[in-house]
Amino acid sequence: FQQLSVPLQFLGWQTRELKAALVDLENLFDLLRRRPTVCDAADAVELELRQGGEIRFERVSFAYPEPVTGQLRPVLSDISFRVPPGKKTAIVGGSGGGKSTILRLLYRLYDATEGNILIDGQSIRNIRQSSLRAAIGFIPQEAALFNDTIFYNIAYGNVTASKTEVEEAARLAKIDETIRAMPDQYDTLVGERGIRLSGGEKQRVAIARAILRNPRILCLDEATSALDSKTEREITAALDELGQNRTVLVVAHRLATIVNADEILVLHQGRIVERGTHTALLALNGHYADMWRRQTEHALDDQDAPTNGSVF
Ligand code: ATP
Repeated sequence: FQQLSVPLQFLGWQTRELKAALVDLENLFDLLRRRPTVCDAADAVELELRQGGEIRFERVSFAYPEPVTGQLRPVLSDISFRVPPGKKTAIVGGSGGGKSTILRLLYRLYDATEGNILIDGQSIRNIRQSSLRAAIGFIPQEAALFNDTIFYNIAYGNVTASKTEVEEAARLAKIDETIRAMPDQYDTLVGERGIRLSGGEKQRVAIARAILRNPRILCLDEATSALDSKTEREITAALDELGQNRTVLVVAHRLATIVNADEILVLHQGRIVERGTHTALLALNGHYADMWRRQTEHALDDQDAPTNGSVF
């Protein structure tokens, strides 16, 4: 049996490697489709996180090329802001204003048309993409799941993760209880061929993945889909936990989730039209205050609104 166990272990390892390779290939196709222009400079260097992960956008503009004509369509204009190490900045604004595009530029899925993006003083154009991506935990609106166990799905962020580490990450991401209620707990198959997870659950799996990778910078694109208020509170709690001592850039649709941000940027048609803390922006009585009023009125009409004092 012992003679057999080594090759079998090797086979197990190979399956895992193969799966990872297929996922990488999928990501590669996705990236090829979306960003033909981004590649490492010949003299690209490793990112050095010497200040603890400061993000700086300096007069950044961006235009997407139209798929058919190739004409450039301006999406962001003259965007400047700084997120100090360990602080949290939220981006809010109407649909199509360019919020998610800011995150994509930071993760370098595209290069800015004008201006500079720096992490700890280093322009991301001169940094190896692998080292940029290792520093940033990116939690997209719709996290992809692999047809595998929930354990594999969480551990994918870190293939050497132990059972205890995966369970701890799931606990911090507030998904541990849900997993324990599944038929085979952490061995339960999820995805197309297994148990389907809701949008909120998928996002918590992505949060657990990010926790395992332990990045200095966290980029979160809050899901637009409506979540029930309990799920929303759980996700907010998970993110607050994950955001501790990290630099956080979050695109938010529900203002209640970002009232505690150190700075809020209000984006309108590709420009920052207001910025400040929640209190300062309410006092300004402009775009943000309008959005806040609309969302709170809506929430008060909502049967699902919690009764714990929060308006959401
Ligand atoms: P939402 O709140 O609806 O998610 P957003 O503020 O995040 O919107 P973006 O997703 O950044 O907005 O999109 C900004 C604009 O760029 C939109 O008009 C969108 O249609 C366009 N856009 C987004 N992705 C692409 C793309 N890959 N190619 C061309 N145009 C795009």
